[in-house]
Amino acid sequence: MITPIAFLDLPKQQARLKDAIKSRVDAVFEHCRFVMGPEVEELEQRLAEFGGAKYAVGVSSGTDALLMVLMAEEIGPGDAVFLPAFTYTATAEVVLLLGATPVFVDVEPDTFQISLTSLAERLTAVRDAEELEPRALIGVDLFGQPAPWDELKIFAAQEGLTLIADCAQSFGASYHGRRLGHEARATTLSFFPSKPLGGYGDGGAILTDDEDLAILYRSLRTHGEGKTRYEVERIGINGRLDTIQAAVLLAKLDAFEDELIKREAIACAYDRAMPQGIQQPVRVPDSESAWAIYSVLLPDAAKRDSLQAHLKAAGVPTAVYYPKPLHHQPAYSEHHDGAALPVSEDLGTRILALPIQPELTSEEVDRITEALKSWAGDTL
Ligand SMILES: *Cc1c(COP(=O)(O)O)cnc(C)c1O
Repeated sequence: MITPIAFLDLPKQQARLKDAIKSRVDAVFEHCRFVMGPEVEELEQRLAEFGGAKYAVGVSSGTDALLMVLMAEEIGPGDAVFLPAFTYTATAEVVLLLGATPVFVDVEPDTFQISLTSLAERLTAVRDAEELEPRALIGVDLFGQPAPWDELKIFAAQEGLTLIADCAQSFGASYHGRRLGHEARATTLSFFPSKPLGGYGDGGAILTDDEDLAILYRSLRTHGEGKTRYEVERIGINGRLDTIQAAVLLAKLDAFEDELIKREAIACAYDRAMPQGIQQPVRVPDSESAWAIYSVLLPDAAKRDSLQAHLKAAGVPTAVYYPKPLHHQPAYSEHHDGAALPVSEDLGTRILALPIQPELTSEEVDRITEALKSWAGDTL
């Protein structure tokens, strides 16, 4: 019997960090300020420092972070918000929740990041149709790598679009030698347990350099409150980060740099061992990935399914992000203009994510690369 390898080993992570996390959480049980306790502010300062932003606002999830950022821009009915079709549903769902229209953009076949060519085409189509006002552009740092921020910034400035960064998967990544966190007007983070900086429940944050925006986000996360508690200045939500999550995340942040190094080492080991016929992830130039996800590409769907089955038999779990692009999902298809986004449509049939998490041992990494090689030897 082979022992299966874990895709995400939270019990092992727990054991490694238990003492640090416990003492942080115990401190919360001592002061009992479970909502907006001192750990929230301490974490906000640490996150801002880490991401190189002036302000960080702790919020309830990465989804709520995006929602509040769009609320602050007063995005609503009649507005077009551009975003990649190849991303998690949360990036698009917040746009529709506010009554605005997501405009899906194709991605690059090598890095899987948003395509500037497709973006320009999609903007032209929206302008020509004269039904929606182009308002915002959400760049997604997919799988741990940065979106093409240099180009996105120029494009957004030229076209008058508000630029937002959905960095849920990629906090910890670097671009031109600087950590992600200040490439856009606002950068949203998620601390869902499977993200590189994961908490033990839901949580998120918004990073910005703009003081007025930070004040606005703080108001929005507390029901739109004004300067005093029962003054309601605007419509907000209950979007706060729990003190206990902040305490867990403070302990996890201490270990984060080491975890990023481990993720990079595993990615390099996979790269080195990758057999011909399996395409390793293509790195975005002048960047370092946070390696939330390590996805390889196979020549076709049959080979992808065959590799997935072979790995499963060898006790190696895999995952497919994302089998169906957003514009083909039932919830979004009626909001899509019907444009073909061929790369996003193709990738899901050929892509496969290998385990990449700091708990993997070098023996496990060897087992995984051996399984890749034995499949390639048998099949290709
Ligand atoms: C996980 C994720 C989100 C949402 O984060 P939650 O904290 O789960 O709400 C948003 N965008 C992307 C790209 C994500 O991967």
